[in-house]
Amino acid sequence: MNYADIKTIDVQDGTGVRVSIYVSGCHFHCKGCHNKEAWDFNYGKKFDESTIDYIIDLLKPSYIAGLSILGGEPLELVNQQGLLPLVKKVKEIYPDKSIWCYTGYDFEKDVYGKMYKEYSYTKELLEGIDIMVDGEFVEEKKLVDLKFRGSTNQKKIDVQASLKAGSVVRLKFGDEARYEQEETKNPKIIFFKEFKEKEEKQEIAHEEIKVPVASQDVDNVIPIVPAFEIKETEERVAAEGINNKDDNNL
Ligand code: SF4
Repeated sequence: MNYADIKTIDVQDGTGVRVSIYVSGCHFHCKGCHNKEAWDFNYGKKFDESTIDYIIDLLKPSYIAGLSILGGEPLELVNQQGLLPLVKKVKEIYPDKSIWCYTGYDFEKDVYGKMYKEYSYTKELLEGIDIMVDGEFVEEKKLVDLKFRGSTNQKKIDVQASLKAGSVVRLKFGDEARYEQEETKNPKIIFFKEFKEKEEKQEIAHEEIKVPVASQDVDNVIPIVPAFEIKETEERVAAEGINNKDDNNL
């Protein structure tokens, strides 16, 4: 396995301050991918024992919350085999630090539904991963304020809870809960959608953003604020079984 990069400090790809490794090789070739150079399996440096030792050392400080594994595609089979000794060692030395893994595969269909059942190293790898963010990056579903994911089709999955339940257990942070409220016709959500659409058509410049109200009728005032001002709370929702199929496009 080769890797494209190691970030010693990463605050974007998972909770807290993290160390990240970007492995090389990805067959998905998503439109708008930011790591195109890492599509090539031969890109970057050779991943070996000394790389593992380096990462173990980087994870040592108490302020480092854990390791994030990105790509490229960590779950290409050759990369799974390369990553397994790293994941095992991190869990052995730092059992309290979390491991996040970003994949273009669908957890339910490809990872748990197929690889986990067919390959012993997938099984072992998943046993060491805490959170998996799944699904290809879809440029048309990209929103800039999403938490720990690039497009709204991607899901954050509690891997250990899913393995225990034998079904997908999703983690829903503020942004996902917010988009799901769209069904309830929450005016804040509607405003956000309209704002995004106008912004995309370049009808709104950022400096023109005002805090509007829906109505000046005092009996029926609905305060609306731009979505980026909405305070998000982190919430954990354990889905019962694979019951979130309708949520996939939220
Ligand atoms: S899965 Fe990730 S690395 Fe691969 S093409 Fe899509 S965005 Fe890029």
